[in-house]
Amino acid sequence: MARKVLVLGEVRDGSLRNVSFEAVAAAKTIAEGGEVVGLLIGSSVSALANELIAYGADRVVTVEDEKLAVYTSDGYAQAVLAVVGEEQPEGLVFGHTALGKDLAPKLAAKLNAGLVSDATALEAVGGNIVFTRPIYSGKAFEKKIVTDGILFATIRPNNILPLEKDAARTGEVKAVSVPITDLRTIIKDVVRKTAAGVDLSEAKVIIAGGRGVKSEEGFKPLQELADVLGGAVGASRGACDAEYCDYSLQIGQTGKVVTPDLYIACGISGAIQHLAGMSNSKVIVAINKDPEANIFKVADYGIVGDLFEVVPLLTEEFKKL
Ligand code: FAD
Repeated sequence: MARKVLVLGEVRDGSLRNVSFEAVAAAKTIAEGGEVVGLLIGSSVSALANELIAYGADRVVTVEDEKLAVYTSDGYAQAVLAVVGEEQPEGLVFGHTALGKDLAPKLAAKLNAGLVSDATALEAVGGNIVFTRPIYSGKAFEKKIVTDGILFATIRPNNILPLEKDAARTGEVKAVSVPITDLRTIIKDVVRKTAAGVDLSEAKVIIAGGRGVKSEEGFKPLQELADVLGGAVGASRGACDAEYCDYSLQIGQTGKVVTPDLYIACGISGAIQHLAGMSNSKVIVAINKDPEANIFKVADYGIVGDLFEVVPLLTEEFKKL
């Protein structure tokens, strides 16, 4: 059953976030041979359209307005609703990012659409799209289908493989003018809490520190290892509560949910609330002094030892590769 599917390309600091390409791949599955239309919203985003096409979008619609330079849910909702009205897609795909989590439910309500949020996999089966999504903090998975209305999904970053980039692909890029009116939210300033570098929610490698790191200074060896591996530093709530690092690094039930290729937990006990945010990582390495620590139950590789000895040794070894 061929469908037209609209995919939101998420722009940050002038670049498309990786999850946008993963969303295009998901949209291809939903489209079942139909058309995948990229959507770019912002103040000067049309230059990114060809990248979305190179990753598999058939064409791209852009909505540009100074009022959309910084994300607001009411501004973006107006833009998406106008394009949905014009394009009449059968499917909509966003990344399950802070933006997607904020915008998708609002739009789903307005469009009377069934929303499958935080999907980690999807497949076309007998005319339906079967989504897989984690439930009970990642302890189980459920399968969902949408039976009527627009098929709307948000996809968890780092779970769906993007299509191979093909810079030779071409497609139409169309600018749509949408009058953005009556913004109830005005963003005066954006203050970034995360350090520059790799975005935690999209990082392929995460080195996370817990209370065992013992101080702000104690995070330095973790940052060095992250730098060598091209990864990001994360933390348990224990480390954040102890003021060793900023809450923007917190991973878990009340922090970020991450699924990197490699997660190295250093001095983290493995409380259920922490596991909720990282247990679906592809490979988990735990470094802990306590051989009975719960984190070893979810770890693929465990190192019983002092993180201040083990982490610098790993850094030295990885530097040699
Ligand atoms: P600890 O449990 O104190 O563990 C420290 C570990 O470090 C120990 O296992 C110790 O053996 C090891 N260690 C100490 N020194 C060293 C060393 N030198 N080398 C190696 N290992 C060492 N927690 C989260 O992480 N994320 C959440 O989102 C979250 N949400 C929560 C929501 C609610 C409603 C509640 C009630 C709690 C939540 N928590 C969350 C808190 C959670 O229950 C734990 O308290 C927290 O995860 C513990 O952090 P930790 O593992 O760093 O600290």
